[in-house]
Amino acid sequence: MHELSIVASIVDTVTESVAAYPGARVQEVHLRVGALASVVVESLEFCWGIATEGTSLEGSKLVVKTLPVVMHCATCGDVELEGVQSFRCPTCGEPCSDQRQGRELEIESIEIEDGQEAA
Ligand SMILES: [Zn+2]
Repeated sequence: MHELSIVASIVDTVTESVAAYPGARVQEVHLRVGALASVVVESLEFCWGIATEGTSLEGSKLVVKTLPVVMHCATCGDVELEGVQSFRCPTCGEPCSDQRQGRELEIESIEIEDGQEAA
């Protein structure tokens, strides 16, 4: 279950980020996860509760935004793929391998108690 180690490193990063705001309580952490990041979103959310237990992030919520796979087709430009099974342009059917989006795993924003955004 590598989601737990991923979540643990996110917890570390967030803890460092909010260290500049003494007394701030983290409410929500927003994460951007590409469809090809090979993580299970449900597992991330589940592990969040475990990883934040006993830390300053305890009780906060992990909000995961899934990003679709975006490929660049030589003919059509950037195209969004419905699924990740085939790397063909959904518009013209040409195979495309120039991936623009889909493997992200990054913190988008951190919401702390007073409503301000850090990160
Ligand atoms: Zn195309």
